[in-house]
Amino acid sequence: MSTVQHEIVPSLVGGEWRTIDSVRSGEVFNPSTGAVLARVPFMSDEETSAVVEAAAAALPAWSATPAVERARILFQFRHLVAEHFDELAAIVTREHGKTLPESRAEVQRGLEMIEFACGAPSMLMGDTLPNIAAEVDAETVRHPVGVCVGITPYNFPFMVPLWMFPVALACGNTFVLKPSEKVPLSAVRLGELLTEAGLPPGVFNIAHGDRECVETLLAHPQVAAISFVGSTAIAKAIYETGTRHGKRVQAAGGAKNHLIIMPDADLDQSVKALAASAYGCAGQRCMAGSVAVAVGAVADPLVEQLCDHAGSLKVGPTDGAEGVDMGPVIRREHRERVASYVGIATDEGATVALDGRRDFPGDGFLIGPSVLDRVSPQMRVGHEEIFGPVLSVVRAADLDEALAVGRNCPYGNGASIFTRDGYAARQFKQHFNAGMIGVNVGVPAPMAWFPFTGWNQSFFGDLHIQGTESVHFYTRQKMTLTRWFASSDDSHHDPVWKTK
Ligand code: NAD
Repeated sequence: MSTVQHEIVPSLVGGEWRTIDSVRSGEVFNPSTGAVLARVPFMSDEETSAVVEAAAAALPAWSATPAVERARILFQFRHLVAEHFDELAAIVTREHGKTLPESRAEVQRGLEMIEFACGAPSMLMGDTLPNIAAEVDAETVRHPVGVCVGITPYNFPFMVPLWMFPVALACGNTFVLKPSEKVPLSAVRLGELLTEAGLPPGVFNIAHGDRECVETLLAHPQVAAISFVGSTAIAKAIYETGTRHGKRVQAAGGAKNHLIIMPDADLDQSVKALAASAYGCAGQRCMAGSVAVAVGAVADPLVEQLCDHAGSLKVGPTDGAEGVDMGPVIRREHRERVASYVGIATDEGATVALDGRRDFPGDGFLIGPSVLDRVSPQMRVGHEEIFGPVLSVVRAADLDEALAVGRNCPYGNGASIFTRDGYAARQFKQHFNAGMIGVNVGVPAPMAWFPFTGWNQSFFGDLHIQGTESVHFYTRQKMTLTRWFASSDDSHHDPVWKTK
């Protein structure tokens, strides 16, 4: 592993790139090699406040910019992201470790969020009802909320920031992004492209840091709204602290996603979908399948085929490499944490059907895929978020028992059923306790136009990220009642009733 002093990741403050050499800092790794790529400053309260103030200073002019002109800049930004597609995917792979095809898929999903935001002028239109009372007209319009903050996790360095700021900016807000300190490089490139697209200085800003930086953002009087994505414990704390300070908060948390396989499912297709769901991005997705609920006689052949399929996946470094099926996890400590769950499963009485704890050449943070069989929901591997390439198999006698597994899960992000039976699919759709449902789909993640509807401990707040809910989150409504009094010589006109 390299020990040389690395470049400090720059922050974007009021249109100026600043190299802030904070007292505290962290290292950004290349998980494929274990090498240090850069050093990221952990900005102090004072340094963070300066970023918020820059965003606040840019607010009056940006919020007064016509919505169609704001959208025009986002169209140009979309063009630049498309032009730099492969370069952006390579940055994601370098700092996160996911495979290049996975990074390309991430860039594509991010691009779609920009496309959604480009349509904001239509979504910002208000409602009117003339003559709601005698000679009184009612109308609503949407105003920006002010300075918005985005605090993002490590697992989608490019896409999750794009879940937030394109819509916030399109709605006339200014923005401070606090990217994950583990993966700040994609965010910097996004800032550069926004500047190139013609975004005025101060409209989009980047603050780097950890807890201290976040606490300043949560309490700063000039911050109006906070979007957070990360683990449940932090999401809950952000929601509680942010709302206590009077902010509007949407906070998406962790997950434990269930995939139910009915005895009539197409087994080959289901196994492929399950493996892609559980092991894609090395299991580091909030929509990753984590528990396979095998109903009835499907369990034995399912476990056998899952082990065959997962065991054949090519695991290796991803940076600059094609042909790898699964890359590393984010950090060495995270690798150890994921591996420890395989041991915990054995201690709790589960069977390790496939053990991913193998040695790999090099210093990358690699771990193979694991399959744990005969897991119960009460076991830690049955209900805790592992966030790595470990799939637990719970055996259920029938659909009712499978639905009960979901009913008792503290999380509520995604869940899928694999079946040919429409009634079973309908029962599942109606009764499974999660906010995003799939039928014969491994990862039922909504695209930009639909909300990311986590339930229970997977989401804190009211208005979700993506879709029209995000436009509502980043705007506040104003209702106006209007009455004009007729002057004495006015006559009443009623042209609607005129005939030819
Ligand atoms: P994390 O909670 O550790 O960090 C998320 C953000 O919070 C980072 O920017 C980090 O700097 C900040 N943070 C961390 N600790 C903090 C503290 N004590 N006080 C204030 N801020 C703090 O999450 P992560 O490990 O980066 O990401 C993985 C998690 O994110 C998983 O739990 C995953 O399920 C979740 N996630 C959820 C969704 C969703 O839509 N529900 C999407 C992606 C990821």
